Amino acid sequence: MRKAEKRLKRLHRHLSRKKKGFKNHKKARKALAKAYLKVQRQREDFARKTANALITSHDLIAYEHLQIRNLVKNRHLAKSISDASWGRFLFWLNYYGQVHGIPIIAIEPAFTSQDCGGCGTRIKESLSVRTHACSGCGLILDRDHNAAIVRRFGTYQISPRGR
Ligand SMILES: [Zn+2]
Repeated sequence: MRKAEKRLKRLHRHLSRKKKGFKNHKKARKALAKAYLKVQRQREDFARKTANALITSHDLIAYEHLQIRNLVKNRHLAKSISDASWGRFLFWLNYYGQVHGIPIIAIEPAFTSQDCGGCGTRIKESLSVRTHACSGCGLILDRDHNAAIVRRFGTYQISPRGR
């Protein structure tokens, strides 16, 4: 995507150097339009393929319901989020989810909670917090790791103190 961006910038510069009404201006404009179309197709393709790959390898997908508009206010994040075409990705995720009968769940970040694999304490944390840190027993684990343990074995199965 960054590469495509450079190309777009170059084509924009190219176009700005041509005089309106001349043949070369028309040519440059066409080239730019074509490049934009290509980037758009690439993004769509990426969103669709990523969604399909996820759906075909999982039984259930839950995602943090991000407020894209709020995130885009952050300039650094905005670029990545727009590039990733989050909205298009979700569209395809739901589409393939329906096709293959895989439940897709949107989770409100504020109400996400996770049970501790060590002691069962229910902790509220945002999905964007990647580390599970329990205030009950002091267990520190990767969030997904903890979730997988709880899902597979239930709580009380692991202990930071080697119980
Ligand atoms: Zn705990």
